[in-house]
Amino acid sequence: MGGSKQASKIKPSLHAREESRALVLSDQTEPQPLSVVLPPIISSYNERIRPVLNALENLRRLNITKEGIQLPSIVVVGDQSSGKSSVLESLAGISLPRGQGICTRVPLIMRLQNHPLPKPELVLEFNGKTISTDEQNVSDAINIATDELAGNAKGISDTPLTLLVKKNGVPDLTMVDLPGITRVPVHGQPENIYDQIKNIIMEYIRPEESIILNVLSATVDFATCESIRMSQTVDKTGDRTLAVVTKADKAPEGLLEKVTADDVHIGLGYVCVRNRIGDESYDEARMEEARLFETHHLLSKIDKSIVGVPVLAQKLVEIQASSISRNLPEIVKKINEKLNFTLSELEKLPNILTSDEDAMTALMQVIGLAKDSLRKILLAGEFDEYPDDKQMHCTARLAEMLNEYSNDLIKCAESDSTKDFLMDEIKVLEEAKIIGLPNFTPRTAFLTLLKARVKGISGMPTDFIDKVWNYLETVVNAVLRHHSGPYYHLQMSSQRAGQSLIAKMKENSMKHVKEIVEMEKLTDYTCSPEYMAEYNKLMTQQNPFVTRVLEEQVSLVVLEGIGDIVASSGHLRQYPLLLEQAFDLKMRMTAYWKIVLRRLVDDIALHLQFSINSLVNKDLEREIIADIMAPIGGGIDRLLDEVPSVARKRTKLNRSVKVLRESKNEVAKIIDKISSYGN
Ligand code: GDP
Ligand code: MG
Repeated sequence: MGGSKQASKIKPSLHAREESRALVLSDQTEPQPLSVVLPPIISSYNERIRPVLNALENLRRLNITKEGIQLPSIVVVGDQSSGKSSVLESLAGISLPRGQGICTRVPLIMRLQNHPLPKPELVLEFNGKTISTDEQNVSDAINIATDELAGNAKGISDTPLTLLVKKNGVPDLTMVDLPGITRVPVHGQPENIYDQIKNIIMEYIRPEESIILNVLSATVDFATCESIRMSQTVDKTGDRTLAVVTKADKAPEGLLEKVTADDVHIGLGYVCVRNRIGDESYDEARMEEARLFETHHLLSKIDKSIVGVPVLAQKLVEIQASSISRNLPEIVKKINEKLNFTLSELEKLPNILTSDEDAMTALMQVIGLAKDSLRKILLAGEFDEYPDDKQMHCTARLAEMLNEYSNDLIKCAESDSTKDFLMDEIKVLEEAKIIGLPNFTPRTAFLTLLKARVKGISGMPTDFIDKVWNYLETVVNAVLRHHSGPYYHLQMSSQRAGQSLIAKMKENSMKHVKEIVEMEKLTDYTCSPEYMAEYNKLMTQQNPFVTRVLEEQVSLVVLEGIGDIVASSGHLRQYPLLLEQAFDLKMRMTAYWKIVLRRLVDDIALHLQFSINSLVNKDLEREIIADIMAPIGGGIDRLLDEVPSVARKRTKLNRSVKVLRESKNEVAKIIDKISSYGN
């Protein structure tokens, strides 16, 4: 439903307009001119708008603006001494602080309520306090409250002060009076007073929901008014700006032309008024005003629909009603949106554990889930929980790493048998010479060569282990983080446990790997028949090779199982006696090296598999429980504590939810009233 449709529904009748002229004339004791002796303001209208204003007031009190929801309000702005306070006084029939310099130093939310009371009731609310006062003392009370909010110097503050005026004959209106705009700080005011005031004013008039009541003095050129400039920056078309021209009595010349020309684009129109002057009573003031616009030769020419405080009151009531009905659906929508959002934020917070049973259950659940996941991805090769995350398809990644490691071993320099063919063997044989038969190959020669080779590759298995455990650490971490997510302390403990366990297991693996490397250095042994088969096969090439090297001038010999051998330089011929032996040594080594490499892969593969198995099936669980029970974990009780930052957030969100729910109820009370205006 469109806002304008709603608005038109609640336009008061013409009859109500007539009645409004009786504003503030409640207790007439003397005979009055006929034009003003009428019953007090349109009470039936008041009766209907009042619940809406009450609901809005409740929303304001709930501080719903803190939730980012703006309420429709009428905001009074104007340059200093333009007559803002006087206009409010005229509407309310009470005295507000007036005087030289800045008086309105905090936003004053003035709620006028028509009440058939013999004596007006005035209540001041600020800082959670409620102070009852009366017409004689309201000025002082406001001053005291202002001092409390903004300090007793001349400073200002944006903490509002609420003044409830229950009085016979006032229109039901809620307006915000703001500090007047001053360019130059008066004595004792901060240097940036202009910016401070401007900020407060802008904060109130910026929301689309605000109606701007721009108070202009008839004595000035409207175009030069600071308040006009400010309201134009937020309301370019002027659609939500109403102008009140004060001091019509002081500058009647050209006033009609000024308001007709509308040089400053006031969308909601002008109302010219004459406020109370000097010691006049309010009743006298209203009569003087009526007389002025009736009789003054210039002012009487201005259309009666835009002069006088009663007209202003009526206009404001109408504008207020249509503004509320226009904005209410949006407010309802925003409250609901914000409420849903806040509830979903609350849901996202870690779960609260409230009893030891809760904590134990959560702990067992987290451990169980983590174990299940790890078993699937690390051991069984099932990755349905992480279909798209390749990093978590662990069995495949581990197999890849192992393959790569195995290939690296085979491709490394130590595994290249063609390089400086037989030279290492010859050198070792020369040094291993003993007094004995010449063709006897000493075992130390073989072991020396083996040791050097194993030493050459000894960094590779440890690098591989390092890499695998680093990888496992990220996997275990991710799984634990995922399952313990809703429980902060459990997450901390399990992460810590995971890390320390991996560190321990890595250390253990390192020890194991270093040991098997050392073992390979120490002994040459295999029971594999492959060794002999390979050796024998290689050795069939011994005689042809030796013969060719010694007798023919060959440059390249192709040895099966070894590769292409460059023998052109003839260096091998310098060792005719050692050649055969060296060849034999080389072939033994070549056959045996394959066995060594396979062992270095197989053994580590089995070891890792065993370690992972133990990690998943028993160690992790024990480690997590140990961490929780250790001083750092703080025991099961600690699991019940909420992290301060989360606790704060939860409190804040809960508070928002409460405010929003209450607001929703408030709005529910009036939404049907708004739609029933037309009936
Ligand atoms: P504020 O600073 O905007 O709140 O202005 P005030 O309401 O304090 O008014 C400033 C001065 O203008 C006061 O001395 C008022 O008496 C005077 N004043 C306000 N309205 C009228 C008016 O309609 N006619 C005349 N003659 N004086 C007015
Ligand atoms: Mg003022």
